[in-house]
Amino acid sequence: MGQVLGKVTKAVDDERGPDVLHRISVPAGWLSEGAAIDVELPRHLSCARCEGGGCDACQRSGALTLRERDEAPEVVSVTLPVSEVGDVVLRIPDAGGLPPPDRPYGRGLLLLRVSVADAPSAGVVRSLAQERPLTISPEERRELIRRSVLVAVGLTVLFVVLLWLAGWL
Ligand SMILES: [Zn+2]
Repeated sequence: MGQVLGKVTKAVDDERGPDVLHRISVPAGWLSEGAAIDVELPRHLSCARCEGGGCDACQRSGALTLRERDEAPEVVSVTLPVSEVGDVVLRIPDAGGLPPPDRPYGRGLLLLRVSVADAPSAGVVRSLAQERPLTISPEERRELIRRSVLVAVGLTVLFVVLLWLAGWL
């Protein structure tokens, strides 16, 4: 997923849905390692433009709703920037507020503000999928064994055939 580290800036570009702000906490070790994490987004998030105060982008409510009540929570996967100090803001494109139904453009930014705490916030887990070490999967292992056995059988048959031919000659 494309992402850039940057400061919270006032939205100057309206060709997208409204930007939302989500604050999470992670243990200091996750930031110093640059861990990959999965973040479950709440249904309602703060409007990034007014930070909850109320503005045109959020119809004065200060909050934006990302999904219907019966929709499953959205999980965003991000890789934390390596940081020793904490308090970084990630700008994640196309994960923010929905555009008006009559507009063709995409969703706004998700501004993810990451602070350090003893325990991760609710809905924040380390992403095991992205940190899996480079090893072969069981399927690949089985395929490699199958090929090795085929090659061994083939060579044995060839050897026996050669012996048989040699005996004949
Ligand atoms: Zn607002």
